[in-house]
Amino acid sequence: MKVGIPRALLYYRYGNFWNRFFSELGVEVILSPKTDKTILEKGLGKVSSEVCLPIKVICGHIEELKDKVDFVFLPRLVYLGDKLYACPKMIGIVDIVGLNFSALLRPKIKNDFFLPHFQVGLALTHNPMKSFLAYQRAKEELKFSKTIPDFPSDQPKIGLISHFYNLGDDFIAHDIIATFRKNGFLIYTKEDLPPTILENSKGFAGKIRWIYERELYNAFNYYLDKIDGICNIISFGCGPDSLVGEIMADKAKTLNRPFLQLIIDEHTGRAGLITRLEAFIELVKKRIVAN
Ligand code: SF4
Repeated sequence: MKVGIPRALLYYRYGNFWNRFFSELGVEVILSPKTDKTILEKGLGKVSSEVCLPIKVICGHIEELKDKVDFVFLPRLVYLGDKLYACPKMIGIVDIVGLNFSALLRPKIKNDFFLPHFQVGLALTHNPMKSFLAYQRAKEELKFSKTIPDFPSDQPKIGLISHFYNLGDDFIAHDIIATFRKNGFLIYTKEDLPPTILENSKGFAGKIRWIYERELYNAFNYYLDKIDGICNIISFGCGPDSLVGEIMADKAKTLNRPFLQLIIDEHTGRAGLITRLEAFIELVKKRIVAN
């Protein structure tokens, strides 16, 4: 039995948990390769050009896996915690893929991870104890405790505010991360922060009902007075990001903090992107010297 996991979207947060869960079940996992042009092109052919880049990317990964596995694993994360929802495209893509491909394992996660995963394990092994134990062992990988990072005063620091599935995917974010690093910047992302900061519901964050947008906003807020500039990377066609991104841009402007918003899609050219980044880096460095 082979189960395919697309290396995209939620994989960048829950991938270790899923790998462990299936391996405890005794099921072979086939992970799709890293995103490349061929995978993206496969995805472009499957969804409307209007949807965001990460959704196009995951469709390409599913296409890549389809003929190589017995099932593709595509969980539907509906909400976490206090009914903080995943974005509608992330929820709906499961149905869209399912229209033409029935060999999908699609647990529906509504905060509780146990039952939907237990049911997947049961369907694959017909062994309730094995499924129960696989979940119990794998859930170790669901712990995301982090400590607050250091902010050394002698190095330039940049906050990259974007979804984990953008920053974790080299095909999407490599040039951005590499350009900041090449210029000596320390990089801070929301994944460097503990849940106590990311899940804060005070102030404007409490009004955001999308789980990952609330995390992004809280990370932005936390970093704002601790680092030298913020680069907000959003996907063209992403409603939640464009709304919250505007609030961030407004706040950064009010507080006179360097802020760059990059809107990316499959047509984003490397040369233009790097030119914009270098201009921003120049500005941030001048501000550091002036202060
Ligand atoms: S939050 Fe935005 S980038 Fe992420 S899946 Fe939804 S629409 Fe796409």
